[in-house]
Amino acid sequence: MDSELRSQAARYVQLLRRSGKKDAWLPAGLARRLPGGAQAPASIQTQTPRSSSRVSEVRSEARPSPNSPAPPAPRSIANPIQLPAGTKAERLAALKKQTSACTICPHLAKSRTQVVFGVGDPEAKLMFVGEAPGADEDEQGEPFVGRAGQLLTKMIAAMELTREKVYIANVLKCRPDMPSKGSGNRKPTRDEMDACLPYLRTQVSVIAPQVIIALGSTAVEGLFGPQKTPISRLRGNWLELDGVPVRPTFHPSYLLHNQDMALKRLVWIDLLAAMERLGLPISEKQRGFFLKS
Ligand code: URA
Repeated sequence: MDSELRSQAARYVQLLRRSGKKDAWLPAGLARRLPGGAQAPASIQTQTPRSSSRVSEVRSEARPSPNSPAPPAPRSIANPIQLPAGTKAERLAALKKQTSACTICPHLAKSRTQVVFGVGDPEAKLMFVGEAPGADEDEQGEPFVGRAGQLLTKMIAAMELTREKVYIANVLKCRPDMPSKGSGNRKPTRDEMDACLPYLRTQVSVIAPQVIIALGSTAVEGLFGPQKTPISRLRGNWLELDGVPVRPTFHPSYLLHNQDMALKRLVWIDLLAAMERLGLPISEKQRGFFLKS
């Protein structure tokens, strides 16, 4: 059995065990090779920004207050999938090859048109993490190319960035299958996210972004585990995933369904906070986006 197949098999057995099949057999040698190890350590906490912020609204949003949500459950990006040495681009290409052959979720491997790995600059300082590919993404093999994706592209442009300068990926790399190949989308299951997470964790460890923006509650759940705190209370705060600051915000598709200016402003505040953190220039005009006049 080649090493990737062995690694996939080991992850599958681990998944079975987590879903209650305690007799699923896992040789100790394979357990040690599991991406994420036998049990990943806790390493998430809410964070305050390092530098003083020029965006007062952002600064006050980021400061923990008595109303700040409890930190999400721990998650780790330790022990990612082993990749050959090389540049970030080479290592990502190797990971993409492995991911594209994944059959850990047989139902998704059967239903997908293709694996939607991720797109952008392997050297990106800013990474966006979404939920899962939809029908458009499944067809085109690129994340965020449908309606929500077009809005995300506009949000990135408002930051004076481009899709080519950032990195965009999803928690789940396959489109969640729909009953009798129906249209629409469904939320990935916990098991599907757990099975796929090592790929995202490895992407994060290769790219080593300075900031991650988690788009929507499912992305936060995928990265940090199930949450009791709603995204509306998690956003506006900095979280941390193994040293990488993570800014949760609303998913673009939520904005498409709620055309409220105040909601757009909240997302923009999160993006401004990310820009501050990255040391990107912010014009007065940008600071005023989505403020009622
Ligand atoms: N929504 C997501 O979360 N990801 C995509 O790639 C497209 C829509």
